[in-house]
Amino acid sequence: MLRQRLSRPALLLALLALLPLTGAAPPARASAPETLAPPGTAAPALGSAARRPRMVASDSARRAYRAWRPGVRPRARADSIARADSLARADSLTRAAAPPPRDYVAEVRAAFTPANRAYATTRAALGFLEPLYGLLLGLFVLFSGLSAWMRDRARAASRHAYVQTLVYLVLYLAAGFVLQFPLAFYQGFALERHYGLLNQSFGSWLLDEIKGLLVFLVFFGAVPLIRLAYVAIRRFPRNWWLVLGLATLPVVLAGTFLQPLVVEPLFNRFTPLADRRLEARILETASRAGIPARRVVQMDASRQSRRYNAYVSGFGPSQRIVLWDTTLKGMTADEIVFVVGHEAAHYRLGHLWKGILFETGMGLLVFAIAAALARGALARWGPRWGFTELHDLASLPLIVVALTLAMFLTQPGANAFTRRLERDADTFGLELTHANEAAASAFLKMGAQNRSNPEPGPAVEFFLYSHPPLLERVRFALSYRPWEIGRPGRLFHPGG
Ligand SMILES: [Zn+2]
Repeated sequence: MLRQRLSRPALLLALLALLPLTGAAPPARASAPETLAPPGTAAPALGSAARRPRMVASDSARRAYRAWRPGVRPRARADSIARADSLARADSLTRAAAPPPRDYVAEVRAAFTPANRAYATTRAALGFLEPLYGLLLGLFVLFSGLSAWMRDRARAASRHAYVQTLVYLVLYLAAGFVLQFPLAFYQGFALERHYGLLNQSFGSWLLDEIKGLLVFLVFFGAVPLIRLAYVAIRRFPRNWWLVLGLATLPVVLAGTFLQPLVVEPLFNRFTPLADRRLEARILETASRAGIPARRVVQMDASRQSRRYNAYVSGFGPSQRIVLWDTTLKGMTADEIVFVVGHEAAHYRLGHLWKGILFETGMGLLVFAIAAALARGALARWGPRWGFTELHDLASLPLIVVALTLAMFLTQPGANAFTRRLERDADTFGLELTHANEAAASAFLKMGAQNRSNPEPGPAVEFFLYSHPPLLERVRFALSYRPWEIGRPGRLFHPGG
């Protein structure tokens, strides 16, 4: 559960580095595939948003559903449900006063109130609108001649290519910030405030936005990276996309490693778990998954948000599980234990590594598509835009537009991948904790609190959801109990 959408899973830093004009969230707030519920995505509740077409959507969702638990044959599942039912029945015979079992599916549907539906629908619409808005802005910067003008200012400022890049980038980011502000304000502040999901004042929110921009410019080394990218484009006019696509790997590695050390502390405070009683249970769960106590921290997310979430960030020595204080306050100990089990899966199963490798492969595809689009557009409109070579600095908005389009086209693939990791994390979490009911009620609470749609349409799920829809997760949480029939877990092996 981290930054919504590559930004979605927001990891192609190098690529994202090029995306400030597209409305992609600043890297600092990006959510990766490791969260419980990506905070910024369109499907904010347990799902994040990502994107997808109709027929294919439901088919592949079904296929993925089956694939995600090969260890449990449908038969075994039916057995375990039957067994649980008969145990429950026997129990209710002996203790007549036992409360009736909760109908979580009905509760989840009931929790999706008209207000929550309105919010979730708006978010989903924004999931499609945001890339479109980025595209239009990029085209505006090109066709208005603004990009050529900024390049001329940069050239007038210095003869050094590096300084020119710096000047151009500062102008470009400033223009992007202003042009993009209406949408950023609406979806990042106004909408969230209106639905009671944001805890920040406007000033504090704006400060975080500006910090994000500066982090991008300074910490992520946007200037040297973009300078190097242009050197590559000049030296390898035909294969620059391959060079840049491969170059994303070290950049993403460094960014992921440093995120918890350098970036996250700029926005929030991270401390050991404050509640001593909870701490014992949380750390015991983590320890059974082989995760040392110092790798579990809490974050003062309530500074910004009222949502519930948790995530894993960093890797190697910087990897850690982060629990939002909102989650710790709003959920019961049993529910939190399941959340920890889910996050422990991302940690133990190497999901950050898998995500990084997947993103690198995806990055190559994205750059290949973008290079083809950019070449075609340049040949057709380059003279009108004031440049005829792709290695001209004024081409930056064109490259960003092409990357935005390519990312949108490949987004369903990225989402299918992260949904699969999330299903694995739910499976592992259940095998570790056996907390089926607590998992279902954790999903229920999270959906209600975050106002997410538990049953999105297939197109919305396909294009926007980095996490499986809530109702699917609730059903799985209630039915997955291989241990009740003596079967080993598929992903969690005690002592292993
Ligand atoms: Zn997760």
